[in-house]
Amino acid sequence: MRNSLLHKKILITAGPTYERIDPVRFIGNFSTGKMGFAIAEECANRGAEVVLIAGVTSLSVSHPNIRRIDVESAMEMYEACIQEFPETDIAILSAAVADYRPLQSADEKIKRKEGENLTITLVPNPDIAASLGQLKKPHQLLIGFALETENEEANAIKKMAKKNLDFIVLNSLKDSGAGFGHDTNKVTILFANSEKKSFELKSKKEVARDIVDVISEK
Ligand code: C5P
Repeated sequence: MRNSLLHKKILITAGPTYERIDPVRFIGNFSTGKMGFAIAEECANRGAEVVLIAGVTSLSVSHPNIRRIDVESAMEMYEACIQEFPETDIAILSAAVADYRPLQSADEKIKRKEGENLTITLVPNPDIAASLGQLKKPHQLLIGFALETENEEANAIKKMAKKNLDFIVLNSLKDSGAGFGHDTNKVTILFANSEKKSFELKSKKEVARDIVDVISEK
């Protein structure tokens, strides 16, 4: 296992993105980044050179093989990914990227107006996974995550095809202890060739090991 990823360059996205409404408010989500950070450490421990593109998170890493790029918004994450992707062998996209951002971010704090509704127009963010899927060269491996609340496997398979992923890690939200904020996770890995591997509820560190084992085999 040790050094099984020696000389491989791996891009990992992790955590949430924050989309600014005004200088003090944002639209975000409950992702903590724990899964992506655990994967980054596991890859680094196996000798890979890791670029960790992290949304806003309180997590820290200190590994000589990990170069961390902190970003706030989906647009910043997209730009960092586009810049780094050509040099990478493998990209693992575990970030919870906001699908939409406010059309405008106000320069000053938005004031409350009694009795009036406030409408914020949202515009779509780029799909980073799909963009990298279009740029992907035959030697590159692209891995995504899916968090579904219904028709989980069918939707994950559709997503894998649409984004040109090599495999997709499906988080089970139905199992207690899995998903956002927890230290544990339960995943199923679905492959483009219709193969499937299901795992038990485990710590995110152990889940990271299982995912990176699959990547090493590829
Ligand atoms: O479409 P959906 O958001 O469910 O897809 C999840 C996968 O796509 C994850 O791997 C996530 O990191 C990635 N994604 C992305 N850019 C987006 C939305 C999702 O890279 N704008």
